[in-house]
Amino acid sequence: MIYRTDYHVHSTYSDGRSVPDDYIRSALAAGLSEIGFSEHLTLFKDTEDWNMNPVNIFPYINHIKALQQSTTGIKIKIGLEVDYFAGKEDEISAFLFPLPLDYIIGSVHYLGDKTVDFGPEFYEGKSIDRLFKSYFESVIKASGSGLFDIIGHCDLIRIYGHKPSADLEPLYRRLAITMKNNNVAFEVNTNGRNRPLADFYPDRRFLHIFREENVPVCVNSDAHMPMRVGQYFDEAYELLRYIGFTEMAVFDKRKRSLVPF
Ligand SMILES: [Zn+2]
Ligand SMILES: [Zn+2]
Repeated sequence: MIYRTDYHVHSTYSDGRSVPDDYIRSALAAGLSEIGFSEHLTLFKDTEDWNMNPVNIFPYINHIKALQQSTTGIKIKIGLEVDYFAGKEDEISAFLFPLPLDYIIGSVHYLGDKTVDFGPEFYEGKSIDRLFKSYFESVIKASGSGLFDIIGHCDLIRIYGHKPSADLEPLYRRLAITMKNNNVAFEVNTNGRNRPLADFYPDRRFLHIFREENVPVCVNSDAHMPMRVGQYFDEAYELLRYIGFTEMAVFDKRKRSLVPF
């Protein structure tokens, strides 16, 4: 059996449509070896409906722990998808440190007060080159922060299909080198296929850079509904194999190992 994991899944503890139990059924049906939950957690912003209220952190962890006890045939992991804010590293670290997590996904959704996936109007009247640059600077800082095990959808700024005129290769290169130097994995996030972008994150034209810099990889669905668990994984693994990847990152209690695929 091919070993496959899906570490980026949202249940009703944040903005997903179903309870965790339903995602596990779907993961078993998809033949996954592991499923990991990664509810949205955004400190420092008013709690919005797409985020888990921090007071629910232990009910969430205990719910997943109970499922670990009661489920056979698949490994269940406990994670979070945490928003990165430059300058807030100490507070984020203090919140996360005591939690018994298997991995933490660090994501940049916010540029200023708004999220880059809020709507196409976010981009109106703004310099696309400048937005891409700021987005990458923030993701590079997140990668070097020491807070995270995986970086989520590292080029989410592509969501509405904008094409900067500047050469992006140096930004991807710096990002990949920072990830490698800080022991952080990137994800091929297949949910981009369901968004206006209609393709995976990161940009497949630059995947070779992550390979050249030897950055560990995970394939994740970012599913917000059970039917999307493991979605498009055959294609994602085929793409990675074509680029030259042969192993993927697997996490347990924040320790990473590599498994061949
Ligand atoms: Zn996200
Ligand atoms: Zn997500």
